[in-house]
Amino acid sequence: MGAVLHTINPRLSPEQLCYVVDHAEDKVLFFDTTFAKLAELVKSKAPGITTVEMAAPYEALTADEPTTFAWPQLDERAASSLCYTSGTSGQPKGVLYSHRSTVLHSYAICTADALALSGADVVLPVVPMFHVNAWGVPYAAAMVGAKLVLPGPGLDGKNLTELIETEGVSNLLGVPTVWSNLLNHLAATNTTLTTVRKVVIGGSACPASMIEAFETKHNARVIHAWGMTETSPLGTANIPLPRHRGLAYEHTLPIKLKQGRPIYGVDMRIVDPDGKVLPHDGVTSGDLQVRGPWVASGYFKAPSPSSFDDGWFITGDIATIDEDSFMQITDRSKDVIKSGGEWISSIEVENAIAGHPDVVAAACIGVSSTKWGERPLLVVVKGAGKEPTAEALLAFLAMRLVKWWVPDAVEFVEALPIGPTGKILKRTLRERFKDVVLP
Ligand code: AMP
Repeated sequence: MGAVLHTINPRLSPEQLCYVVDHAEDKVLFFDTTFAKLAELVKSKAPGITTVEMAAPYEALTADEPTTFAWPQLDERAASSLCYTSGTSGQPKGVLYSHRSTVLHSYAICTADALALSGADVVLPVVPMFHVNAWGVPYAAAMVGAKLVLPGPGLDGKNLTELIETEGVSNLLGVPTVWSNLLNHLAATNTTLTTVRKVVIGGSACPASMIEAFETKHNARVIHAWGMTETSPLGTANIPLPRHRGLAYEHTLPIKLKQGRPIYGVDMRIVDPDGKVLPHDGVTSGDLQVRGPWVASGYFKAPSPSSFDDGWFITGDIATIDEDSFMQITDRSKDVIKSGGEWISSIEVENAIAGHPDVVAAACIGVSSTKWGERPLLVVVKGAGKEPTAEALLAFLAMRLVKWWVPDAVEFVEALPIGPTGKILKRTLRERFKDVVLP
């Protein structure tokens, strides 16, 4: 109809919520009954809002409306939707998508070397709409005619399993924290998923133990993928090459841990702090930059030149790219741990500890060290009824990591702080453990 759809994260602080609604110049607010109070607040604070519509029940809202619609002719470069980045520091930043970028992205994610969506699939994105338009899946599913299943608020293992079985879901998409709840539930109840064939995992790094559990216990192929709000989101997908065929499973795992190859349309490079382009040797790591028809060229009404370099978007991720173009994220640049001038990949430490049977969740952060500047601290949530010791966990890591990457200490916590898109909030953890000083 030519309107711009702005999907809002209702868990933003009231200030941030009003900020984004105002900044986006939203006019009509749709909300679910559970958000009635929040909608009132937004309406009172955002003068631009002219209409507030309760979206439930949907059938009642649409009952008296015509069933046909005269589609307007729109410029393909006109804006179609808007998402704001999570905004862990400063105000959230808006990314405005066009009809053109959305259609091209939908074509691209349906291709065989990306997510291979088809009309034969039943697709369940366990991803909020405000998180990059549920990863663009509602558009792509409509494009190919796949059945689209939306999860609502019940994202625990039990609810998801029931939904998957009732609807016959074949393709899942979501962040690792969601899948670890699902896998724990399946293990605890000794059940499996009977209809799922593919699981797309992205948003944070997917540990080997998760890939293994889906592929060997539940007969579902994992596609590890990488993207950002600024990239619509899909940038890379991990699909094996012919030369990986016939490899023993344990040799495929290190490849599957990588975030994958750029999908057609996306260009990727890594650069050093001086902007020099670095080699694709799978070892050298640098600042990841991307460009392409569905990669943002700026933020909405907020010029941020420091995020762009001569047509390339600076992702803020640190990565390697190998000879086959498989990209691997080693860290978010602000999460990198600098020990004695060298970098430790917190993701690699987390991937390794995720394989420990007594650990349900873990994060690795840098804390001050009198000798090395920074050293890694491991923050762990124990499994129910499990009592691993710090020594045992560190010994487990010592067998899997180079010696100086093994954290110096372990802190046990009840739960990790998780943001609205399911990612661990490392900034909150660093704040909580800021007084820890390691030798
Ligand atoms: P957002 O825009 O909130 O989706 O955040 C994008 C960021 O999530 C990226 O810049 C990465 O730091 C992180 N990310 C997304 N996918 C992956 C992945 N597969 N592995 C590691 N980090 C990821």
